[in-house]
Amino acid sequence: MGRMADLPHAAPLNAALRLQVRGVVQGVGFRPTVYRLAGRYQLHGWVRNTSWGVEIWVEGRAEALAAFQRTLREEAPPLARLEEVRAEDVPAQGHGDFTIRASTPQEGAYQLISPDIATCPACLSEILDATNRRYRYPFTNCTHCGPRFTIIADVPYDRPLTTMRAFTMCPRCQAEYDDPLDRRFHAQPNACAVCGPQVTLEDGAGQRLAGDPLAQTAALLRQGQIVAIKGLGGYQLACDATNPAAVRLLRARKQRPHKPFAVMVTDAAALEQHATLSAAERALLASPAAPIVLCRWRESSPLAAEVAPASRVIGLMLPYTPLHHLLLREVGRPLVMTSGNLSEEPIARDNDEARRRLGGLAAAFLTHNRDIYARYDDSVWFVPAGGPQPLRRARGYAPYPITLPEATTPILASGAAWKNTFCLTRDRYAFLSQHIGDLENAETLTHYEESIALYERLFRLSPQAVAHDMHPDYLATRYARALPGPHVAVQHHHAHLAACLAEHGVTEATLGVILDGTGYGLDGRIWGGEFLLGDGRGFRRAAHLAYLPLPGGEAAIHRPLRLALAYAQSLASELPLPLALAAIPATEREIVAQMVARGVNTPLTSSMGRLFDAVAAALGLCDVASYEGQAAIALEMAATPLAEHESAYPFALVAQGEVQQWGQVAHLPPLGQAFALNVAPLWRALCAEHAAGRPRGEIAARLHLTVAEMIVTTSQRLREATGVARVALSGGCFQNRLLLALVLPRLNAAGFTVLTHRQVPCNDGGLALGQAWVAHYTLKGA
Ligand code: ZN
Ligand code: ZN
Ligand code: FE
Repeated sequence: MGRMADLPHAAPLNAALRLQVRGVVQGVGFRPTVYRLAGRYQLHGWVRNTSWGVEIWVEGRAEALAAFQRTLREEAPPLARLEEVRAEDVPAQGHGDFTIRASTPQEGAYQLISPDIATCPACLSEILDATNRRYRYPFTNCTHCGPRFTIIADVPYDRPLTTMRAFTMCPRCQAEYDDPLDRRFHAQPNACAVCGPQVTLEDGAGQRLAGDPLAQTAALLRQGQIVAIKGLGGYQLACDATNPAAVRLLRARKQRPHKPFAVMVTDAAALEQHATLSAAERALLASPAAPIVLCRWRESSPLAAEVAPASRVIGLMLPYTPLHHLLLREVGRPLVMTSGNLSEEPIARDNDEARRRLGGLAAAFLTHNRDIYARYDDSVWFVPAGGPQPLRRARGYAPYPITLPEATTPILASGAAWKNTFCLTRDRYAFLSQHIGDLENAETLTHYEESIALYERLFRLSPQAVAHDMHPDYLATRYARALPGPHVAVQHHHAHLAACLAEHGVTEATLGVILDGTGYGLDGRIWGGEFLLGDGRGFRRAAHLAYLPLPGGEAAIHRPLRLALAYAQSLASELPLPLALAAIPATEREIVAQMVARGVNTPLTSSMGRLFDAVAAALGLCDVASYEGQAAIALEMAATPLAEHESAYPFALVAQGEVQQWGQVAHLPPLGQAFALNVAPLWRALCAEHAAGRPRGEIAARLHLTVAEMIVTTSQRLREATGVARVALSGGCFQNRLLLALVLPRLNAAGFTVLTHRQVPCNDGGLALGQAWVAHYTLKGA
């Protein structure tokens, strides 16, 4: 047979493509981008929001379709996050134009939801432009900025399912909303002074005060008054940050004697007046999430010392709503901005709740009539050696998920007792909640339960298993145990390690150096200075700080002096007490001595956080601590630069016999024996130096150096035994900049690959992610 003659090519004039896009693609101006691109490439068809994302149908020439597909990613609007774009060839239907279709809710499907985003430059210039119709309008927003998560009751993200349903758009706003080429096309919270929410200024009794609310608020603040301000995710308490009396008043009323406050300044230029900033800090502060960033405080800054007592670090942030921008400009001074609550309670959200709970705290209330659906605190970051880390993850970040190394069944992880967040997983997503707070009162527990219900609804999730901490008495544990199982109890420090590995997508065995305050151990003791060889599946406890007495149990957090007494008695009973301890009344010293000797209400702990506390107290740097970590921070702040020849205090790494282990460990390198770090030599040398009159700042610095050396020495010893050369640093002690600055270069020089947190806090705010990840493996392995 000869070749057949070529037939006329029957290529269709029109090809068609159906695209399914997952990610944050609703309420961020994604459909207008699609609409514009379709116009550019002369494509017909439609785009619509669905319960799981955005669906696109385009028809046209094949090259145009290819160009459209390519450009879609490149030109996606700033807040869109395209997680997955699935494309399939479909037969053309002969559409005559391109349209934006109505949303189609679908049973059980879910989509990612954008966090609330700081005011964009375009909106800011509108509210500052006297000729613009949104001049001075405090609720200006667009598809590139504004509230999202805090106003959503359910998905799909459409106005009727948000707290904006109470407001009907005026014709001009409606026209913007309907115009696919407008920045406010389908901006669900779109509003203006004619049709949108309004601010009012009220006194404590709810009586409306006359005059312009913003100007009046500014006047009160300049007079040194405290004003409660309804922000994005709840009420904030504000006062003039340059006025020491105002800040002292706020401390007294809020019952928060020492814990640093954050300060909001007008703009990027003002930041430089108060802090010496690195490029990374500047970038974080100016990012769309606009978190609080802990920065190096300038000596010349006019902020009152009372804002952050005895600290060289100041938490700064930029305005993130139009209301904040306008107020800061009106006041002309930096403002303390702190959560509207008494210490330990959740942030006040509703107007009547704010009046009830904050009535005694604030002189006036700058409030408004747009309801807040989800409480949402400010996020906090810092930039230590190794790169930026979150310390509190909330506004601007949650509920955006952390992507896991592999897909999971839906799991609820109930989180920790303090700095609680919970975590829900679905597919490869871990939805770590915004900061909930310390789970120790009814209000916070209600907030916790409501937030879990909200996440389950938004992400169409019903957990098939529940993970919780091993501590039997945590409220989060009890809450989890009351839910239907299966239950997975996860050891606290294993969860810290797993959280660090999960966010880095690491599934291989790693040495977790987990240093924190306290966590319930496998042996019922209180752990906290742990070297765990493991991964999400299980761990071997390779080394830990040698056990020391914790008089009064967890309450010792607030009594560092008693703790120091107990350590002195255990580590160097024959030596004279350091001055700060010798000054304690004999009766109290005797009580602690008896407690330690008899083990009455005195559990044993391997906590690194408590070692820092005890040293701080022994040096006379902290008597009582009003918040966890205060003594350790005092020690870090006291530290003066190390001399070049400085060496570590002596310590001993002692073989300890049997290795405690948990979970699936057969795949982990074996360990012949476990080790304990004996800090008695350290304590003796340190006290001797103190007695000899060495400045406390030098001693504090040397202690940090010693802890860094303990980490390196122990890691090296364990690498010899196991070959594992990857180290993950987690636990609350790594909120310490000095420690990170000392340990990272040493670990790197010793040839270790080091992981520090990037997406979730190293403190207990990241714990739930690790719990979920461990539970995933436990369920998979069972
Ligand atoms: Zn905007
Ligand atoms: Zn309007
Ligand atoms: Fe912890």
